[in-house]
Amino acid sequence: MIVVLAGGVGAARFLQGLVQIVPQNEITVIGNTGDDREFYGLHVSPDLDIVTYTLAGVVDETHGWGIRNDTYNTMGQLTQYGNDDWFMLGDRDLATHIHRTNLLRQGKTLSEVTDDLRKQFSLGIRLLPMTDQPVATHIVTPAGQLHFQEYMVKRRCVDVVQDVLFVGVQEAQPAPGVLDALKEADAILLAPSNPIVSIGTILAVPGIHDALHETSSMIVAVSPIIGGTPIKGPADKLMSGLGMEVSAVGVARCYRDFLDVMIIDKQDAHLVSEIEDLGIPTIATNTIMRDEESKAALARKTLEAAGLSF
Ligand code: GDP
Repeated sequence: MIVVLAGGVGAARFLQGLVQIVPQNEITVIGNTGDDREFYGLHVSPDLDIVTYTLAGVVDETHGWGIRNDTYNTMGQLTQYGNDDWFMLGDRDLATHIHRTNLLRQGKTLSEVTDDLRKQFSLGIRLLPMTDQPVATHIVTPAGQLHFQEYMVKRRCVDVVQDVLFVGVQEAQPAPGVLDALKEADAILLAPSNPIVSIGTILAVPGIHDALHETSSMIVAVSPIIGGTPIKGPADKLMSGLGMEVSAVGVARCYRDFLDVMIIDKQDAHLVSEIEDLGIPTIATNTIMRDEESKAALARKTLEAAGLSF
């Protein structure tokens, strides 16, 4: 079994490569739920949905989220009623959130609902939320403590980052299957996702970091930072706000106490020795996932780094 720790867009694209090489029933994805939030009374799980929609081939690729060719009639009507429209939800996408919320209100866990949605989209992978308990990523800024969606989507990352909090994480437990998956994996791959608010959130769930420390599985991470900047998203602002170096070295430092191999972009090949000085063998290769071939090539390289061949 290959286990992948995943955020949203970067992870989903990496997984598109992995499923070209590894049968879906040999892949377990552990997804970030710190970005989850209620909108209009509905439970939205952005990262789990991005992974599901992307692997199902229905994602709106121009946004990286939502469903391709969706309509926005419900949002239009909601804004006429005076509701905010900073977090856009298409009509078909809303059906996912209504379905999820309905099942949660009937007493199902987030794991059960996520598995139901996975099946609705005919995916063969196992998709586990990091936890079934509510955890909310908050960004501390001079303007106050903002929910991550408010910081990123509503205010477009303009605020200075002073701290990042995972509200509720101390009371959270890894979702059923998460710790066993980490213990029994043939390899654990950290997707090129935000190291603070995607992978970092997963690592903050009590028990997960220790499981990575204790597992005998090979752990390989792909840097989402290339040439000192993320391809997308606020990883640079979050890392610098927390006093970290915004580079593949900074990413490697986040994972140094359990990581076996780091994969960085070939543009950053000059950083290999600096990361290896941390005690982490490092491979420089193309990590920009432009098309199906480059996604598959990166997945193959990552599996090879873990000592597996397919
Ligand atoms: P989010 O929740 O949608 O922001 O999802 P992630 O945390 O999974 O993805 C954001 C990260 O993915 C950013 O830091 C990007 O730099 C990274 N990313 C996106 N596309 C690529 C790519 O093609 N290659 C690499 N190496 N990183 C990527």
